[in-house]
Amino acid sequence: MLRGQKALVTGANSGIGLATAVALGRAGADVVVNYVFGQEAAEDVVRQIRGFGVRAFACEADVSDERQVVGMFARMLEEFGTIDILVANAGLQRDAPVTEMTVEQWHKVIDVNLTGQFLCAREATKEFLRRGVVPEVSRSAGKIVCMSSVHQIIPWSGHLNYAASKGGVLMLMQTLAQELGPHGIRVNAVAPGAIRTPINRSAWETPEAEAELLRLIPYRRVGDPDDIAAAVTVLVSDLMDYVVGTTLFVDGGMTLFPGFATGG
Ligand code: NAD
Repeated sequence: MLRGQKALVTGANSGIGLATAVALGRAGADVVVNYVFGQEAAEDVVRQIRGFGVRAFACEADVSDERQVVGMFARMLEEFGTIDILVANAGLQRDAPVTEMTVEQWHKVIDVNLTGQFLCAREATKEFLRRGVVPEVSRSAGKIVCMSSVHQIIPWSGHLNYAASKGGVLMLMQTLAQELGPHGIRVNAVAPGAIRTPINRSAWETPEAEAELLRLIPYRRVGDPDDIAAAVTVLVSDLMDYVVGTTLFVDGGMTLFPGFATGG
């Protein structure tokens, strides 16, 4: 489905990014596995992807650091020649009630979750514009997927910085889609609900916590990273060539106001 395309996935040595990098490789893309720490895990992902007969390498870079992001793209262009797909996935949480939230916690989350996506999207776009459409490879000049969250629309007490960053990702994605559409570049977001990864371990780790979480999910199951990876893979393929500036919610119905299921 993606044979001959070159993909970069940020935060690809854990959780959703890992599953997405593997899925893109399985679909035929060559993949850059970005990570900020955990080289061993990143090399494992690279080995898995190479097992599909495509190319892959691990690239350490902090997505919130402009110099490191520019360096990562330079290396990708040197090794793969170009980029067709960016999955801006790297993200983190630094939770606290508002009165206890430090400005460091605020900045860390905004820097990684929002500025990191801006920096990676900017660098990918430069190459998409330089190269343009190559019809044998894809109908579009490039695809960007912003990893968002149901919290781009659901407020989340105790997670002010995170919710603000994902609300920002929505406007980042829509504005990029509007600005870059005329150049044949497709920008979209995927908004996961509750997915079983290290970022939210406490929410599903015990049976009690999981039962509590399931009350928020009409489909009554916690998602797996592969649920998101599958959505990203189809979204960046030419099957979805007319999908521009949209958020694909992959959330088991979490955004359906489940509190109203019994009358509200
Ligand atoms: P995770 O903690 O398993 O993975 C996050 C990845 O981002 C890790 O590889 C981490 O090393 C990387 N990362 C963190 N800071 C970085 C930086 N400065 N530079 C480069 N990489 C960095 O969590 P996950 O659940 O897989 O999260 C991936 C994305 O999905 C995040 O954007 C998160 O907000 C989003 N998301 C997750 C859920 C969920 O339920 N798990 C729900 C909605 C959205």
